[in-house]
This record gives sequence, C-alpha cells and structure tokens, in this order.
Amino acid sequence: MQKILNYINGAYCEPHSGKWLDNYNPSNGEVYSQIANSDATDIANAYEAAKEAFPIWSNTTIEERSRILLKIADLIEEKMVDLAKAEAKDNGKPLNLALTVDIPRASSNFRFFGNAITQFSSEAHESIGLQTMNFTLRQPLGVVGCISPWNLPLYLFTWKIAPAIAAGNTVVAKPSEVTPLTAFLLGEICTEAGLPKGVLNIVHGTGPSAGQAIVEHPNIKAISFTGGTKTGEHIARTAAPMFKKLSLELGGKNPNLIFADCDYETMLNVTVKSSFANQGQICLCGSRIFVEKPIYEKFKKDFIAKIAALKVGDPFDADTNLGALVSKPHLEKVQSYIKIAQEEGGTILYGGNPVTVKGLENGYYLEPTIIEVYDDQCRVNQEEIFGPVVTIMPFETEEEALRMANSVKYGLSATLWTTHLDRTMRLSKQLEAGIVWVNTWLNRDLRTPFGGMKDSGVGREGGFDALRFFTEPKNVCIKYT
Ligand code: NAD
Repeated sequence: MQKILNYINGAYCEPHSGKWLDNYNPSNGEVYSQIANSDATDIANAYEAAKEAFPIWSNTTIEERSRILLKIADLIEEKMVDLAKAEAKDNGKPLNLALTVDIPRASSNFRFFGNAITQFSSEAHESIGLQTMNFTLRQPLGVVGCISPWNLPLYLFTWKIAPAIAAGNTVVAKPSEVTPLTAFLLGEICTEAGLPKGVLNIVHGTGPSAGQAIVEHPNIKAISFTGGTKTGEHIARTAAPMFKKLSLELGGKNPNLIFADCDYETMLNVTVKSSFANQGQICLCGSRIFVEKPIYEKFKKDFIAKIAALKVGDPFDADTNLGALVSKPHLEKVQSYIKIAQEEGGTILYGGNPVTVKGLENGYYLEPTIIEVYDDQCRVNQEEIFGPVVTIMPFETEEEALRMANSVKYGLSATLWTTHLDRTMRLSKQLEAGIVWVNTWLNRDLRTPFGGMKDSGVGREGGFDALRFFTEPKNVCIKYT
C-alpha cells in the first residue's frame, strides 16, 4: 500500500513514531494509502532543517527565489493531469473541478508570488525639516508554520507556502490528514525545481499531534492557518502567550442576496455553482440564499429544476457535477443538519438523501439539498454545514435582507445580485464580509486581499498582504546634516 511520507530536509522519510493513519478514498470508502502519523519529534526535526536552511535562503537573491517559484509553477502545470487525478481520488471532488480549478490555482499561486516578490519593495519617507530619512525594511520572519484544510487541498496549501518562501522564510507545513496526497507529491516537485533542502518541510499527521506541535513550537515565528473556527480559536489561545504572528482563515456561512432587478439567467446559473461546487465544501459557498419576494416562487421552481439536473456520481466521470463528500464522519455531520432542519420546521424542497452510486456503493454521496426556512435564526441558517446543503428564504426590503445577511457570527464573503448601482454601493459598504461579490461569484484576482471578518478570521492573505504577513517591517531612521 502507498505510504504518504514526510518530506524533511529535501528527502522523504518515515515518521519517528513508526505509526500510520489510514487514508480513505471517499468515492468508494476504501483505504488506499497510509499516512505518516507524525508527532512533536517530527516537527522538531522539520524545524531544525528549516532553521538550518534559513540563513542561505533569506539571503538568496529575489531573482533566484522568483526563478525557483516559477519553476515549481511550471512543473505543477506539466503534471496537471496526474495531480488532478490524485486530488479527485483523495478528496472525492469531480476530476473536472480539480483539472480546471484546484491544480491550475496551485500553479498560479507559485507563479503569482514568484512575480509579486520582484515588485515588493521598501517604502521610504523623508521628513523634510527634521533632516531624517526613514525607510522600512521588510525582513523574513524565520521559520514559519502553515496548516491547511481538506476542501481545496493543494490550492490552499500552496496559497500559504508560496508567499512564505517567496518572502525568504523557511517553512514547516502540515496539510490536512484527510487529504495529504497532493501535498506529498509537492515534495518531489520542489526537489525537481531546485528548491534548496530544508526550505520547505512537509509533515503529515493529525491536528492534535502534528498540528498542535507546530503551533506550540517556541521558535516557529508565525502560523498561517486555514480551517474551522473552533480550531482557529484553539490555535489563537495556544499561540497567544508566545506572541506569535497569526493569520487565521476560518469558517463561513455566506449570504447570497438576490434582488428582483438582477440579470436572472446569469444569477440562476452562478447560484447553482455557488451553492454546490465541490459538494458545497468551499468556505465561500453561498449557503444562505435570500430572494426578493416578487421573484421568490419563480426562483424556487427554476432553481429546483436546475438542481434536479445535476449528476451526483463517480468523481472520475466526465459528466459528474457532484462527487463524494470528503469522509464518512463529514457525511454524517452534514446529514445530521438535514435532520435538524426537519426538527426545526424547515421544508426540504429538494434532496436530503444519500445517493448510492453503482459500483461505488460504499462512497460518501449525498443529494444536493435545498431547505426552505422560515426563521433566519434557526440552526441550519446560522451554523456552518459545509456540504451540499443550502437554505432559502424570501425577503421584502433591502433593510430586511441586510439584517438577515449580517445576523450570523461569520463574515467571510457575500454575493449580491442586482443591477441597481446605489444599492450595490450601499450594501457593499454595509455587508459584514471580507469579500463582496456583485453579479459574480468566486472571481479572484490574486492581488486582492482575502479573508474574513468576525468569526471568519483574523488578517488577510493574497497579494502584498500575504507578503506583509510573512515579513517583519522594521523602520530605519537616518539623521543627516
Ligand atoms: P479543521 O480546523 O478541522 O482542520 C484544518 C487543519 O488544522 C488540518 O490540517 C488539521 O489537522 C489542523 N488542526 C486541527 N486541530 C489542530 C490543532 N489543535 N492545532 C493545529 N492544527 C490543527 O478544518 P477542516 O475540517 O480541515 O476544514 C474545514 C473548515 O475550514 C471549514 O470550517 C471551512 O469553512 C474552513 N475553511 C476556511 C477557508 C477560508 O479561507 N476562510 C478556506 C477553506 C476552508
């Protein structure tokens, strides 16, 4: 059986404990590989390798660092099909999605930060009259930790690693123990690209063991974390006494506000995607749909018809729209919310049942599910479900729509469908979300800041914000006469 080994100091190695975790293929429920079950000793080894590599890497020219990042981007592109197949097998997502979104984006992350670092320069401020010249050095932090989730495995793993190493840091990184395969493959790509050993160290294992050890390590200077809000809170508590720099990208329960004056056909087609792409397992999915009353009944009918046409099936079939959910416990969690919805008096307008796929009877499949709710404060409308489940409710006024949109503890993204310019401006300012999409969804320019408000996180990644996070600004003030 394939072994998912750690990648430390430029070489693959077994975990110190000799212990392994089972890795499941969600499409058929079978164990197909063994994952290194690493602990604090493996993290300490990875840290030592990263520490050793730091003085040379941080003094490597920007051009050389950039060249290596661009080479990694090229190699990911070259291996696109194999990586996409690995991602689909490991995560259960449709191969088409991995081929068009996940792996291209992993390559873009390296390409973007390989270029961005060449444009990231010091600021200077001359204080006329005081005869001083100030400039701000941007120095790499040292060894940093990157911890990522399972929903967009290589996409989010590289979204952290690329800016960290571009800025001259060295890294101890841990992908999700549920989807480690493409992170494992990234090791050999980095070696082939000529990344010096120790610059990137990839350690596999569970959150409480390997993840916790990264956060607790006294000399790992910063943690860039993407995952659940509860885990983020735990990480913040652990890291606070050591004053670690933190970037926390956490959960979401994003509103999709649909006004009667929108471009209806575009809205309908994009809303199908924003609801169910990646089986609804994207932190940015618009899981709460609010529709203006005059078009509510029409929207319901048309949306159900579109959803009924979606195919749930083998991630490797070209016509599959929804693959498998990532794991059995996650499927059970999502199903428990469908039960809660019924207990709360919600109406299942479509779906709600597991799907048996021929030949893959033990896979974790669920119908796309639409729940009509009558009280925006009900649990299914407030708590993150993170599966192919959306709620839907009508609204009468813009004020009511805004109040409901903002009445959750999360504030990651919001989508707004309207052609009314004044409303666009009003709501964009008032929506409590780190990202507001107007008449589009999941459109990302990597130069823009990415992150959430409220319980959706602290800090921003993307563009120069990511490079700022991974560097320490130092003001140098020179007096002249
Ligand atoms: P999770 O919090 O369970 O795990 C995320 C990562 O943290 C994994 O690698 C895990 O092993 C690790 N981890 C767990 N406990 C830890 C600990 N005590 N110390 C250190 N690391 C620990 O989240 P998940 O189930 O993998 O991912 C789903 C969640 O991620 C959802 O809430 C989703 O909204 C969120 N998410 C957010 C964004 C964003 O950009 N805001 C993007 C994707 C996913």
